[in-house]
Amino acid sequence: MYEKDCRQSDDTPHNSSHVDFARIEKAVREILLAVGEDPDREGLLKTPNRVARSYGELIAGLQEDPRVHLRTVFNERCDEVVLLRDIEFHSLCEHHLLPFTGKAHVAYLPDGKVVGLSKLARLVEGYARRPQVQERLTNQIADAMMEELNPLGAACVIEATHLCMTIRGAKKPGSTMVTSALRGLFKENPSSRSEMLALIHGTQARS
Ligand SMILES: [Zn+2]
Repeated sequence: MYEKDCRQSDDTPHNSSHVDFARIEKAVREILLAVGEDPDREGLLKTPNRVARSYGELIAGLQEDPRVHLRTVFNERCDEVVLLRDIEFHSLCEHHLLPFTGKAHVAYLPDGKVVGLSKLARLVEGYARRPQVQERLTNQIADAMMEELNPLGAACVIEATHLCMTIRGAKKPGSTMVTSALRGLFKENPSSRSEMLALIHGTQARS
């Protein structure tokens, strides 16, 4: 029943059928009891169910292989950087199970194989929908592009805000964490790297 509610209507198979919603509900009820709440009062009655569904959605990608999105490729002679900027994503920090959200920028330098831009967004979303740490998310995206598209270079830069940083612990609202993973020419060749970074930051001088 919940599986159906959680599934999104677009073409992404957010396969949350493996998520044990009843088990999450039980755990949430326990948390409410643990903090001295009455889980049976009216306002909280449906809370365990709502929380179970939100978690189901946030981690629905755990059993998926996001690389499948990179397996529909075109053969195209293109030797310029392909960049998709500002891909919004939401993930769940695996240390605190609190959300971290932000933008991913992904780029690659094709070597004959090109993929649809929407697939790059799917790739990001696929790896984001699971318990994550930002560093791993960044590396997984760059490695997937490198291994599936065999490009001359691949890069992923992620800027994100972590709720576990901003509302608890160090409490540094407004702080953003930036991570990058550079592969191939983007790592080895300074001019390829600066071209890609300039494109990401929108500071590319027009020639
Ligand atoms: Zn955290």
